Amino acid sequence: MKLKEIGEFGFINRFANTFDGLIKGDELGIGDDCAVLTLNETESYVASTDLLVEDIHFVKGKISARELGAKSLAVNLSDVAAMGGDARFSFLSLGIPPNTDVEFLDEFMAGYSEMSEKYGVPLMGGDTTKSPDKLLINVVAIGQCKKEDIRLRSMAKPGDVICVTGMLGDSAGGLKAILGNIELSDDVNYLINKHHQPVPRLEEGQWLARQAGVHAMMDISDGISSDLMHILKASGVASSLNLSSIPSSDILKQLADENDWNYSDLALSGGEDYELLITVKADDLECIQAEFQREFSKPLYAIGEVLEGAPSVSVQDGEQMSVLHNEGFNHFM
Ligand code: ADP
Ligand code: MG
Repeated sequence: MKLKEIGEFGFINRFANTFDGLIKGDELGIGDDCAVLTLNETESYVASTDLLVEDIHFVKGKISARELGAKSLAVNLSDVAAMGGDARFSFLSLGIPPNTDVEFLDEFMAGYSEMSEKYGVPLMGGDTTKSPDKLLINVVAIGQCKKEDIRLRSMAKPGDVICVTGMLGDSAGGLKAILGNIELSDDVNYLINKHHQPVPRLEEGQWLARQAGVHAMMDISDGISSDLMHILKASGVASSLNLSSIPSSDILKQLADENDWNYSDLALSGGEDYELLITVKADDLECIQAEFQREFSKPLYAIGEVLEGAPSVSVQDGEQMSVLHNEGFNHFM
């Protein structure tokens, strides 16, 4: 059997439970945005790691070195945000082809340290090695969280309302513009910047985690169609999404029109928006939405509902109902 037949998650599932017997107390290993590691009686560390590979996750020359440095940290901080954590530390390991310009690496580190500075997350260590011909970037991010505030993918309950913290699809539109060499304009640059300069929703994540009515939480890295499925599987529930409620920017809609892209597909299956996906107790929704708006001057968008049943995403599009197939990003498939 080849890896491409089972994909990234098929592989992870083959060994994910092997270590359960070694995990102590209320610590958590594989399966969520971060692992949960005990700090003291009332607090935990949350830790996540991501690997970025040249020509798979980024193309040198398309993204600036400074943006790449900032993005490498931001995508890991997004996983800390998804647990409700306060970002505290990072580690950075690089595999570097020997002919890489030092100026490129200096710019990369300038971007990395700008992102570190912005969220008060010092770089505490790492490793540097030679790589044959592609740049490899591995970041570990560690956050801190009160145990009672930690939000897991497994916490969704039937009757919850599914919400997102921002527009979906812009980043995927930006990637399409880059790969299609679309002529640059202010609007095209807006989408490309969304792809190159993701914002980890750390303040939002911590605020949401303090609300008792917020149940499950994760960040949207692979596209909502596959990311929501992770919440559904972890919680043993089904869902329905209302297509017209999924927030997309006017810029994405306009450029999708001009370039014959399907903006709904980009919003549902495109990745790298790094907004937070949460489920909220229905009775608390109005109050949480109003307070979120006051706190962050932007809406918390309600896009669907958690239902009883086997994990599946049905999409209501006007009168039509269809079952969504998991088309978010999955390595090797
Ligand atoms: P995210 O998109 O939030 O970074 P992933 O979908 O990449 O999460 O990973 C899903 C889960 O599988 C995470 O808990 C992650 O730590 C775990 N995981 C992925 N690859 C490996 C691996 N090679 N070894 C151990 N755990 C892994
Ligand atoms: Mg994540």
